[in-house]
Amino acid sequence: MAPPNQSSPHRVVVVGGGFGGLQACLKLARLPVEVTLVDRRNFHLFQPLAYQVATGAVSPAEICYPLRRIFRRRRNVRVVLAEVVGFDLAARRVALHDVALGTAPEALEYDTLIVSGGSQYSYFGHDEWQEYAAELKSLEGALTIRRRILEAFEAAELEPDPERQAELLTFVVVGAGPTGVEMAGQIAEIARDTRNEFRVIDTWQAKVLLVEAGERVLAAFPKRLSAKAEKSLGSLGVTSLTNHMVTGIDAEGVTIKSGEGEEKVPAGTVIWAAGVLAASVASKLAEAAGSEQDKVDRLLVEPDLTLPGYPDVLAIGDMVQVKGGDPLPGVAPVAMQMGRYAARSVRSKLRGGTSGPFKYKDKGNLATLGRARAIAELPPGIKVSGFLAWALWLGIHLWYLVGFQNRVLVFTRWGFSFLTHGRGTRLITGEQNMP
Ligand SMILES: Cc1cc2nc3c(=O)[nH]c(=O)nc-3n(C[C@H](O)[C@H](O)[C@H](O)COP(=O)(O)OP(=O)(O)OC[C@H]3O[C@@H](n4cnc5c(N)ncnc54)[C@H](O)[C@@H]3O)c2cc1C
Repeated sequence: MAPPNQSSPHRVVVVGGGFGGLQACLKLARLPVEVTLVDRRNFHLFQPLAYQVATGAVSPAEICYPLRRIFRRRRNVRVVLAEVVGFDLAARRVALHDVALGTAPEALEYDTLIVSGGSQYSYFGHDEWQEYAAELKSLEGALTIRRRILEAFEAAELEPDPERQAELLTFVVVGAGPTGVEMAGQIAEIARDTRNEFRVIDTWQAKVLLVEAGERVLAAFPKRLSAKAEKSLGSLGVTSLTNHMVTGIDAEGVTIKSGEGEEKVPAGTVIWAAGVLAASVASKLAEAAGSEQDKVDRLLVEPDLTLPGYPDVLAIGDMVQVKGGDPLPGVAPVAMQMGRYAARSVRSKLRGGTSGPFKYKDKGNLATLGRARAIAELPPGIKVSGFLAWALWLGIHLWYLVGFQNRVLVFTRWGFSFLTHGRGTRLITGEQNMP
């Protein structure tokens, strides 16, 4: 790769202000380069706490941070609010589409392009399920879930027919990975914590079903921790249906298939936390570069995270897998380490050098199950569960949350919730069934 022209600053375009893109920009900001960060949202979303918005534990602004504010003191970083709609890799240009008030942004030119578009939920070819089973990938998704959960309790309180009341108080979470498990645990806690607020229904009668096609919950964890998690969920009132597959979702509920046949389960609220696909921007980039994608649309990148044949284009985070390498999980630390690596490789390029292959440092795996319950697997093979794992989970999430103010606010909210069993943001907002 030829060293860049020294007369004008090296232009780096970063697509996506999520975990990978943000880390890349923060590191690039310290280099003599001109950075343009383009995202279709004007904020960074801390996805690991999206389920807490969905269950009224924290408010949306506490887990988001405006991208402009993050870079306010970094004069070499420009933030552009736009949707990336295409790439011309020969001309080194990124095509944009406006997302704000019909302004037509010009295409961005780059010397190095870093793309970190993330992933999206996949409904396994049943996009029609999305209408009935909201997902947690976006802030809007989290708020829709919050409204549906809270409305279900309200509707049940007013429902005279006991059968319909029981249906309204049935919550189905599809997928028992960390997100599904966290959601199910939190819904069970809402039911437990709000018992004295309702006059007609007994919220403890709420059924929370966690449906998982695989043979255990939290399959990425060792069997022993998985078993502990299932037991802990059971004690919270969550019924784990492993080896059960959802084969249909509609306005009435879900159809579940198991070894015993198919069963229709009427449910007031269904939440989707199952399959994931790479974001659509990955396919646009693959099309432009003629690159390979795997079966969940992730781009197959070289060990230095560049696209085959395009040394000036790096793709990182959830939307990639390294060709021939060990499969990497779709988690924030992978995206963050890739983002920092991408910035370091720009630095090497400026110095006329090259980068070695990207190496992921696995710092462990954590999942929380509810108040003071979590499991953790830390290298080298240390397994922790219960309060200690939960305290670790709290500390790590607070540490990585963007913005000092957000950390203080979330810490304060968690403190209050822990002591009072309250949830400060149980608000029904958004599209309601009003005349
Ligand atoms: C509910 C949930 C819970 C999770 N919990 C955990 C957890 O506890 N621990 C953990 O490690 N990981 C967790 N993850 C996974 C983690 O959030 C992801 O691995 C991480 O966000 C990936 O970072 P990324 O940069 O690849 O993508 P993202 O962080 O998703 O960022 C992608 C960015 O690209 C932008 N973008 C996408 N397409 C375009 C386009 N065409 N034009 C402009 N902008 C675009 C998006 O707006 C977004 O800002 C969770 C994920 C979810 C959904």
